[in-house]
Amino acid sequence: MHIAVLLEKRAGDQRVAATPDTVRKIIALGHTIAIEAGAGVRAGVRDEDYAAAGARVGPSTAATLAGAHLILKVRAPDAAEIGAYPRGAAFAGLLEPHAARTEAQAYAAAGLIAFAMEFVPRITRAQTMDALSSQANLAGYRAVIEGANLYGRVMPMMMTAAGTVAAAKVFVMGAGVAGLQAIATARRLGGIVSATDVRPASKEQVASLGAKFIAVEDEEFKAAETAAGYAKPMSPEYQAKQAELVAAHIVKQDIVVTTALIPGRAAPVLVTEAMVRSMRPGSVVVDLAVSQGGNCPLSKPDQVVDVNGVKVMGFSNLPSHVAADASALYAKNLLAFLPLLTGEDKSFAPKWEDEIVKAAVLTRDGQVVHAALQGA
Ligand code: NAD
Repeated sequence: MHIAVLLEKRAGDQRVAATPDTVRKIIALGHTIAIEAGAGVRAGVRDEDYAAAGARVGPSTAATLAGAHLILKVRAPDAAEIGAYPRGAAFAGLLEPHAARTEAQAYAAAGLIAFAMEFVPRITRAQTMDALSSQANLAGYRAVIEGANLYGRVMPMMMTAAGTVAAAKVFVMGAGVAGLQAIATARRLGGIVSATDVRPASKEQVASLGAKFIAVEDEEFKAAETAAGYAKPMSPEYQAKQAELVAAHIVKQDIVVTTALIPGRAAPVLVTEAMVRSMRPGSVVVDLAVSQGGNCPLSKPDQVVDVNGVKVMGFSNLPSHVAADASALYAKNLLAFLPLLTGEDKSFAPKWEDEIVKAAVLTRDGQVVHAALQGA
């Protein structure tokens, strides 16, 4: 199989889908690989590092794509890129598939096979391929670092000869992969941390990280986790009770990090404008859900919004802020996916009956084949 890795064209995304480490492993598996010149620079990898690992460095997108059976991507390709892919080729990336009906039709029309890494099921066998987790973990870490940077005070308690400085109170909303790492990071920096979620399983995880769990624990809460481990959309009644609890708690918080998502739907609104206005000046709201509509209606992608001295910041792509580590982990996720696309003779031959491949494939044979993207 011949594999191509492109320079990501999506504005601001600094990640790359292969590292010298994964290039060596891909070659050891019996494949060849071409990397577009400059593809890794923003993630700390020079062209010569790829060449030393055994990759061919392509001087242009077209030269890199020549003869490729599989294209490894971070983000979804744009129309120009799709037009440049060899017909019949496959590509794998973070394709934001829940909102990709039109895009999927374009992939199918171009005769491409598209794999969305977000749709890899969260089963034990697929843990090494779980790109959502590898990237969310880093996003959770970086959210706290960015929040601490915007915060006008310090994080840990400091007892000095000139007086005592209080520790920052950090509230993490949504305690999934990103939220749990945000809790751990805020604790390491000396914050006093509390967290909320609607899934009962998260209660113990939050407590095990030394944070206080705050939630409306009624009958609906007890049934809020789907079989796939995700949160269900909560009823208006639950949301009202949750808002009341959060409003009373948020007044006393210095940094609020929101990470709450429901797959395929708009993010739930958890921090209202009134709640933001109730916080004291100098405090910070970091909204990781901004690309899915935001957990705070005031947040704008990659902009600081100042509300009476409270800074509300929506980050649309925090993994890209730690591009070297995000690329290293993501490239490993793709490497783990590769055997499912490889035949006995090392050719491109996806195991179409494998449940992971079945779940991740969006288009093949000129058709949109994923159930979530079919229909009008
Ligand atoms: P996610 O990104 O979809 O959502 C983030 C968090 O927001 C979740 O914990 C969710 O419960 C929470 N949330 C949703 N609506 C909320 C609301 N109204 N109020 C408060 N919180 C709300 O989730 P994720 O981080 O991808 O993780 C989802 C689950 O999958 C977790 O249980 C996680 O541990 C699990 N997981 C399992 C595996 C595996 O077994 N291989 C791997 C990764 C994650």
